[in-house]
Amino acid sequence: MNMETANLTANTNAPADAGRIKALIDKLEQDRSLTRSEWTDLIRGRSPETAGYLFDRARKIRIRHYGHDVYIRGLIEFTNYCRNNCYYCGIRKSNPNAERYRLSKEEILDCCAHGYELGFRTFVLQGGEDGWYTDERLADIVASIRSRWPDCAITLSVGERSRESYRILREAGADRYLLRHETYDSSHYQRLHPPALSAAHRQECLWDLKELGYQVGTGFMVGSPFQTSENLADDMLFLTELNPQMVGIGPFIPHHDTPFADQPAGTLELTLFMLGLIRLLLPKVLLPATTALGTIAPDGREQGILAGANVVMPNLSPAQVREKYLLYDNKLCTGSEAAESLKDLEERMAAIGYHVTVSRGDSLNI
Ligand code: SAH
Repeated sequence: MNMETANLTANTNAPADAGRIKALIDKLEQDRSLTRSEWTDLIRGRSPETAGYLFDRARKIRIRHYGHDVYIRGLIEFTNYCRNNCYYCGIRKSNPNAERYRLSKEEILDCCAHGYELGFRTFVLQGGEDGWYTDERLADIVASIRSRWPDCAITLSVGERSRESYRILREAGADRYLLRHETYDSSHYQRLHPPALSAAHRQECLWDLKELGYQVGTGFMVGSPFQTSENLADDMLFLTELNPQMVGIGPFIPHHDTPFADQPAGTLELTLFMLGLIRLLLPKVLLPATTALGTIAPDGREQGILAGANVVMPNLSPAQVREKYLLYDNKLCTGSEAAESLKDLEERMAAIGYHVTVSRGDSLNI
């Protein structure tokens, strides 16, 4: 294990620190602001005991604002073509083994129709950065969904585009946009991405999206290669500044056809701790228990809900393309992860005292 990974390891043998860590958790809950070094100490100094303390607080806050409701989003992974070469991602342009596909407008609308019947009132269109979907084509798809299902929220997650493009898509009827900042620190960002991509540009996109009136979601991978506790502290400071309506985080999981094939995955333990911290920092935020969390542990998403998450995003993509949208190895796409298995998901949530809700589930953080 190199030093940088070691930095992310939880403190397991310093009960003397627990008092200080709990005091930091109290301060976070009260002030919703910590300094960079306080964030770093809090993240580095965590232990099973302080995590339990954090999750209790996070759950209470989540229940105060959202009760025991779990919002569902129908995820439509409509293209796995991508112009980018992110070192961690399985659908990167230079992966010759990725079997490429893109869904037609009709196929996307069929997914929505199916999802609407199942009870979904938010559709999330996610894909690689695929030039085939020009502003005109994508706006046409968005406008068709908007007119056929006026009571539904439309979320886009299609990466970095121009401000003008975001404006056109917003006008066509998109309500929300998910664009994880991935990591705030520019030198860490550079170790995860090719030189053509920059942290500054990605962040600029987020500010543009916000100004254009989107409900904005950002987020980061937990345990990505070379990540330090300081990097995570910076991510928390960025969340404080941006004040997004949604935050998506999940563990980094290696994909065998990428430069990071041999890097260790992020842990369930740290991901849950970060979820709890985000709930305290942004009490009303929409916080998914992500597919990646469900992939690294069979009950990962339930544990995510119990750490403060309040959203799950089952897969609505057509069955035959699901295994082609492989961002990382062993990505879940069947079982309770699949939209058609909502009943299974409902039972899993009921088993921990929560219930799946049919509604748009807008953020209270406006
Ligand atoms: N092209 C879109 C969608 C990217 S896929 C965009 O640029 O926003 C959605 C998210 O999956 C990414 O933001 C990234 O955080 C996550 N992801 C990609 N590869 C991953 C991996 N190997 N492990 C865990 N998460 C990964």
